[in-house]
Parts: sequence; C-alpha cells; structure tokens
Amino acid sequence: MMKPIPYGRQSITQADIDAVVDALKSDFLTQGPRVSKFEDTFADYVSAKFAVAVSSGTAALHLSALALGVNEESNIITTPITFAASANCIRYCGGNITFADIDSSTALIDIDAIEILLQSSPQGTYQGIISVDYAGYPVDLERLRAIANEYDLWIISDACHSLGGYFVDSSGRTQKCGNGAFADLTVFSFHPVKHITTGEGGMITTNDEQLYRKLLMLRTHGITKENSLVGENHGGWYYEMQMLGFNYRLPDVNAALGISQLKRADAGLERRIQIAAKYDKAFAGSKIKTIHPKSNIGHAYHLYVIMIENRKQVYEKLREKGIYVQVHYIPVHLLPYYQSLGYKQGTLPAAKFFYEKCLSLPMFPGLTDEEQEFIIENIIQLNFLING
Ligand SMILES: *Cc1c(COP(=O)(O)O)cnc(C)c1O
Repeated sequence: MMKPIPYGRQSITQADIDAVVDALKSDFLTQGPRVSKFEDTFADYVSAKFAVAVSSGTAALHLSALALGVNEESNIITTPITFAASANCIRYCGGNITFADIDSSTALIDIDAIEILLQSSPQGTYQGIISVDYAGYPVDLERLRAIANEYDLWIISDACHSLGGYFVDSSGRTQKCGNGAFADLTVFSFHPVKHITTGEGGMITTNDEQLYRKLLMLRTHGITKENSLVGENHGGWYYEMQMLGFNYRLPDVNAALGISQLKRADAGLERRIQIAAKYDKAFAGSKIKTIHPKSNIGHAYHLYVIMIENRKQVYEKLREKGIYVQVHYIPVHLLPYYQSLGYKQGTLPAAKFFYEKCLSLPMFPGLTDEEQEFIIENIIQLNFLING
C-alpha cells in the first residue's frame, strides 16, 4: 500500500531551510528587512504597486475590510463556495453578508446574479464585493469592476487560490491575479496547502497608496511614528495611535521562507498545470465531470475539483485506499454560525448542487506521476463500481 496522499501539501527544500536558519541567526525575528524584501518581490511577482505582508490570509481579509471602512451598517456581497474567512472578515467588523449564487460552469460567484441583486435593491444598499478565485480560476474582474463602478462598490479579490493565475481582458492584456488593475485590494494566503507557504502568513496587494498606508498602520495597532503622519512631536519616542489596529505582523523568520518559496512559485504552478492536464485527459469522456477553464484564463489550480455522483461513498472508499480527497466547500451560508444569523437553507441552488457533488483530488507540486496514476485508476474503478 502506498503512503497516504493528502489533497495538498507544502514542498520544502534545503534552500528554504537555509533561508530560515539565516533569519534565525539574524537580529530580526519579528518584522524586519526580510518582510520588506518579501513584500517587494511579491508585489513584483503579481505586478502590483504595493504589498503588505501579514500573519495570515484571514488577517489580510480582516485588515482589508477595516481599511475599506466596513462597519455595522455595511452590506457586502460574496460567494457561498469559499472558505468561511472570506465572509467572516465582514462579520469581524459587524457588517452583513449577502451571498450570491455561483455560476455552475465555473463554481465562481455568478456575476449575473450580482447584477440582478444590485438592480433589485435601492441604490446604496451595498458597499462592496468580495470575489473569490475558487480553485484558482480567476474571476472576470474587468466585468465585475464595471458593475462595481456603476453601483459605487469596492472590490476585495480573495486570491488565496490563484497565485500566478491571470485572465486576458477585453483589450487582450494579461491581467495577473493581484495586480490591482480592477480590485481595490487583493488577498493571498501562505498556509501550507497554498501555492507558496510561510507556515502561517498572508499578503495584501493594491495600487492605491492611501489604502496601502492605512493597511501598514492597521497591521501594527493603528500606531505610527512617521513624522509626516503624526500631529505633534514630543521627542524621539513619540508615536500616535490613530486608529484601532491589530498586531498582524509577519515574523521575519516566516518572510525568509516566503522569499525562498516565491522563487519556486512558477515551477510549482507549472507542475500543477501538468497534473491538471493529466487528470483532464483521464476523465475526458467519462461520467466524471470537471471544470474546463475558458481559453482566456490562466487557471492556477490550487484545487482540482471533480463532480461525481454518490460523492460520500467515493470519498470513503478513496480514503480507505489512502487517497485523502477533500470537499471544498460546505457552502458558507449553511454553516451553523451563519444559520444562526438567519440564512436560509434551500436558497442558492447552484451552490447546493455543487456542494453535493464536488470532490477535490490531490493537487500539489510534489505529487508523483506514480501517485497520480494510482489516484486516477482508483477513481475510475470506484466510479464504475458505484455509479456504473
Ligand atoms: C486559505 C484561505 C483563506 C484563509 O487563509 P489563512 O491564511 O488560512 O488565514 C481565505 N480564503 C480562502 C479562499 C482560502 O483558501
């Protein structure tokens, strides 16, 4: 029997280990020069002007919501097929979430549904949209921006799944996820299952200098020492706390890992695309459905999701074989916390349908050909046994 295969896993090289050891031997453990370097190289990688490193993707979402002024009066639209944190960040600020259904051909938020929602609500009801590049499939932010402009909304792009992804816009330009061309703020996570890892960590990218300055302050308690920003100056020790911020700093030790990992981001993405192509080929013409990205999309393949009948049975049988498939996600509005807020079952039918059938197959750069063949063989066999 093969050793268990997870759905996602980090890859750590000797270069990563050396980078972390170097950081440990340096003067900085918490935020220091490696954080700045990580921010600069990351901003460069996604072609954004500014990047702010933080302690997790969730912290990145929370700070983004704060920087955009979310409060108890806010109504924000997002997708139900995402990790809970995409919606929770609004709840942290006391705001309300409205879930729009997904487009079943992509599993992304249905932009038509957003438009209908906005058209049927009084102007000014909603302040923002959190879009999610689910599985690594980039949302059409060009179209979303046009709608957002019409209704005066901001956009947070949750790109935790789509580092290295892109779409080609209507004028033929490649728009990298996180480049800040359409979204006000873009959020990434460096949890170990994501494209690159810092253990725990996150990043916010933006082209908006004002939001950038605000994020820097919010990351460190809302405190600033910068001469140009403080109102008075009592001496060298003087600082001001100008807003209620948090300690969401990323340690330099973790940033060292991030810098080293980022160097292999392209290689990792290439391998993910290769794995996806092999799955695509194996399931073509079978009853196992997959999501095929449109031709103008650079899918980042954080996840490889199939749609399968009798999903629970397939899931359990695969686990018995040591293939640790996963389900992404239980629709957020159906989680007990959101149910307690009054979200109804029986709404958002496309999300419910998707949830009943989706299954994430192992997808990570370190997956071997042999492992992938074992996975494919077992899925095809089980699907035949269970579903005919
Ligand atoms: C991983 C993830 C997050 C949260 O990131 P953490 O770093 O685990 O806090 C948020 N949104 C999505 C879509 C994610 O996949």
